[in-house]
Amino acid sequence: MLKSTKENQSISFHNTIAWRNQTRFIWLDTIRCESCWSCVEVCPNNVIGKIILPFGLHKHAHIDYAEQCTGCKKCVRECPVEAVTYTYCLSNHKETQSCNK
Ligand code: SF4
Ligand code: SF4
Repeated sequence: MLKSTKENQSISFHNTIAWRNQTRFIWLDTIRCESCWSCVEVCPNNVIGKIILPFGLHKHAHIDYAEQCTGCKKCVRECPVEAVTYTYCLSNHKETQSCNK
C-alpha cells in the first residue's frame, strides 16, 4: 500500500536527521573531523559531503546519502585523524582485526 505524501515527507526528514553522521557501515565523528575533505574525495558513491558554515564558523564532513554506502572502507583508511569508524563489524559482533581494517 502506498503511503501518503505527508507520511513520505516525514519519513524522509526523520532519515535525514538520524543518518547525518552514520551509514549502515560507518560512523563519522564530526567533532574530531578536521575538514581535510579526503573522505569526500575518495568515496566512490558520493556518500559524504561538506558542512561549511558562513564566516568560517564551523565546517566538517557529514553523510549526505547514507543509503549509497557500500562499506568499502576507503573513507576509514583515508581519514588522517581517525574520525571515520567502520561500525559494521561492531554491530555484527565480528570484532576481529581483519574485519576492522
Ligand atoms: S565506506 Fe565506502 S561507500 Fe561508504 S562512505 Fe566510506 S568510502 Fe563511501
Ligand atoms: S577524512 Fe577525516 S578529517 Fe578529513 S574530512 Fe573526512 S572525516 Fe574529516
